[in-house]
Amino acid sequence: MRKLAVDVVVIGGGSTGAGVVRDVAMRGFSTVLVERADLGQGTTGRFHGLLHSGGRYVVSDPESARECASENEILTRIQASAIESTGGYFVTCPGDDPTFADKFLAGAADTGVWAREVSVAEALRNEPRLNPGISRAIEVRDGTVDGWKLVWGAANSARNYGAQILTYHRVTKIETEAGKVTAVRCTNLRSGDEVLIECDFVLNCAGPWAGQIAAMAGAHPVEVVPGRGIMIAMNHRLVNRVINRCIYPADGDILVPAHTVSIIGTTDVKVDDPDNLAIEAGEVQQMLDAGEVLIPGFRNSRALHAWAGARPLIKDDRVAASDTRHMSRGMAVIDHTTRDGLDGMLTIGGGKLTTYRLMAEHIVDAMCEKRGEHRDCRTAAEPVPGSESGRTHLVSDRLHDREHDRFDEQIICECELMSRKMFTDALASQPAGSFDDLRRQLRLGMGPCQGGFCSVRATGIALDAGHLDSERANGLLRLFLKNRWIGLWPILYGDQVRQTALDNWIFQGTLDIEHLPQPTSEVAL
Ligand SMILES: Cc1cc2nc3c(=O)[nH]c(=O)nc-3n(C[C@H](O)[C@H](O)[C@H](O)COP(=O)(O)OP(=O)(O)OC[C@H]3O[C@@H](n4cnc5c(N)ncnc54)[C@H](O)[C@@H]3O)c2cc1C
Repeated sequence: MRKLAVDVVVIGGGSTGAGVVRDVAMRGFSTVLVERADLGQGTTGRFHGLLHSGGRYVVSDPESARECASENEILTRIQASAIESTGGYFVTCPGDDPTFADKFLAGAADTGVWAREVSVAEALRNEPRLNPGISRAIEVRDGTVDGWKLVWGAANSARNYGAQILTYHRVTKIETEAGKVTAVRCTNLRSGDEVLIECDFVLNCAGPWAGQIAAMAGAHPVEVVPGRGIMIAMNHRLVNRVINRCIYPADGDILVPAHTVSIIGTTDVKVDDPDNLAIEAGEVQQMLDAGEVLIPGFRNSRALHAWAGARPLIKDDRVAASDTRHMSRGMAVIDHTTRDGLDGMLTIGGGKLTTYRLMAEHIVDAMCEKRGEHRDCRTAAEPVPGSESGRTHLVSDRLHDREHDRFDEQIICECELMSRKMFTDALASQPAGSFDDLRRQLRLGMGPCQGGFCSVRATGIALDAGHLDSERANGLLRLFLKNRWIGLWPILYGDQVRQTALDNWIFQGTLDIEHLPQPTSEVAL
């Protein structure tokens, strides 16, 4: 068994855990983050991509609105490379109550959320696909954020401050002695080895799984109510700004332009198991109908991929446990000393990706207070590695890069302009990585063909470059295509059926991938 000893163990490698491990390390504690999969593979990799301006909450949740407004400014400064400052509109669609826009403007003024009403003509000039029947439009400072880039930025910053990041390690037990946490046990899922991490403190940042982690320490049940939401990526950027309906938060009322696609979402349904988030046919139709309200003809554009995530909502006594839409989005830190008589552990839940840095500041402040020491939080002041220039991401960045290397470099993924070198460099730096790990970094297979062309090219290149043997390459390709398929089958209609038929012919008809030799060792994770 491998043994480590640190001051603080952070459990969960989503945005919250990454923000927390960065903050802990920057305050001078020795720390290790433990994540059972890759970083950002939980809710953080399955969200809507919106960097909130606070506009969404000015009427329904003023406290969250204030937090979002201030964190939006901070993140745009310290995590610039993960953010695209698109701006956004809240629009009153036909049938929506036009007086809600007045409540919105009053709420924005009260909460300090920047908002400005613009003429319908200006909104339609800037976003020509918008419903021409809109009666009001309010401009806000919404943006879009790449959750994976945000998490890696925070994790790399933490590493620079001495933190260790253990991915593909599952926490199995939290050891306690005389009412105090003493160690965390986990299993390395790639090697099967057991790891024991002795520590003074555990910060439980496991999102919708936080209740399971708290139970491993013997705490009373933590009521995290997973609220499942589905999202659908549509072909192309149908809009260039984030488009919100100017109504009380509801299902399918936001369209987010993210990289080369647009994402419509989302729903909010209470579920029991955050590991089992099935997408129902009715929800897909609901999203397409909602898109049609914002963009007439929405259904004619091609749906590329659907996915679901579970909000880690903390149960609020004021609303029924089944009504996740109206549970507070606010963050909550649970003190296990006062609650369970267990020293050395705090749990955090709720919040949003936009407020991840502030969540980290709150829980680490609480930990310092319990340890009886004061150490300043410096995360708002210092940019993460790669964001020092303060330049935010532009959708044209990859095109710009390819302008420079187009004569020397082969393009492997035309949809996302991923070059051969980008792929082989990433493979060389992560020999144990799966194609899905690389997808999150390079956007391999995330464009209109959903891997139809690039996945087999990438497999051939990996073999050719000697990074993989044929057995592992076959296994990784099959796993990658299986995972792409999970997000494809719920939205098979119209042009996507034709694309899928073509892909299927390439995979099965030409390459007979189904009958490739089965790997002797399991590559699935
Ligand atoms: C549908 C939907 C849309 C959303 N849209 C937005 C949006 O547009 N903007 C926004 O700001 N916020 C949005 N949110 C909220 C935001 O995504 C979440 O608040 C945030 O990602 C939560 O991050 P987290 O780190 O707390 O949880 P997670 O990202 O879920 O991280 C928890 C981690 O714990 C790990 N874990 C679990 N069990 C173990 C174990 N035993 N051992 C080790 N690790 C373990 C998991 O693998 C996971 O990676 C959305 C949420 C949902 C569900």
